Amino acid sequence: MIEIRWHGRGGQGAKTVSQLWAAALLEAGKWVQAFPEYGPERSGAPVQAYNRSDDSAIRRRAAVTSPDVVVVLDPSLLAEVDVTAGLDPGGLLLVNTEESVSAVRERVGFEGRIVCVPGDRLAIGAGATKANVVVAGALAKALGDPPVATLKEGARIALGGKLSPAALATTVAAIEAGYGAVSAGRCVPVSRTPRADGPTRGLKRYRDLAVGAVVAAGTAGRTRTGGWRTGQRPDVELRRCINCLLCWVYCPDSAVELSDEVVFVGFDYDLCKGCALCVEACPTGAIAMVAESPALRPGLAPQGK
Ligand code: SF4
Ligand code: SF4
Repeated sequence: MIEIRWHGRGGQGAKTVSQLWAAALLEAGKWVQAFPEYGPERSGAPVQAYNRSDDSAIRRRAAVTSPDVVVVLDPSLLAEVDVTAGLDPGGLLLVNTEESVSAVRERVGFEGRIVCVPGDRLAIGAGATKANVVVAGALAKALGDPPVATLKEGARIALGGKLSPAALATTVAAIEAGYGAVSAGRCVPVSRTPRADGPTRGLKRYRDLAVGAVVAAGTAGRTRTGGWRTGQRPDVELRRCINCLLCWVYCPDSAVELSDEVVFVGFDYDLCKGCALCVEACPTGAIAMVAESPALRPGLAPQGK
């Protein structure tokens, strides 16, 4: 039996690609399973999906905790999730990233086989909007099974009823791009700017303050929810701020930062998940959501951009 664990973020198609993978192997005569695992969170939150395949009936039904293969659809998860937990030392870690194998190995400490594929770039080149099927193509090549023709048939079976003919053709092209990338060794390492402390680092958040008792610290400040943002972050026009601190009260992620004098100074983008509650709470319209590049999420670039 082969067990695969897919790590992605809500909206990146981890569940879809696991179903595509299962459809392909079912077509190849295997017994298969495909199922996702995610909580009540929203787009951008870390999710997992699982596959099992075997030549005989599979009786195990639980989540995959000791995978033979781990696939990471979003490189920012390397800094947020223990993606190699339970991974067989003789197994395979495949990551959608522009980083080199050695850089990924250093980050995750996995001694086994690592394959890197620049899935986002290849997806754009194929006209696709997501890297998930590119990575599936790369995985098929890295494992030597299923053949790319079978994987493409799996795409037609799993997605043919949902996609237009043109979109299905794009999906097939993206699978081929991923399949070709592994053999062609197109994993291009790039240098990354080291993380830097932003201008508001070290300032107080509500968990540090003893002002009233209505806000419990909880665990919000310990969870790096900044990686959950999907293209929008709050920005403030300080001249309109009257320091009412309603944004601080309503922020569910301890992402509003105050100075020692208990004055609003900005946001901790490591923690801000982009829910926009602070925009709703602000009585003066000082806060607005602005667009940001996904590449600026925590774990990929300096904060505060
Ligand atoms: S958008 Fe505003 S309320 Fe939501 S997490 Fe970020 S700072 Fe907090
Ligand atoms: S809610 Fe608006 S006015 Fe109040 S502290 Fe926050 S930014 Fe300033």
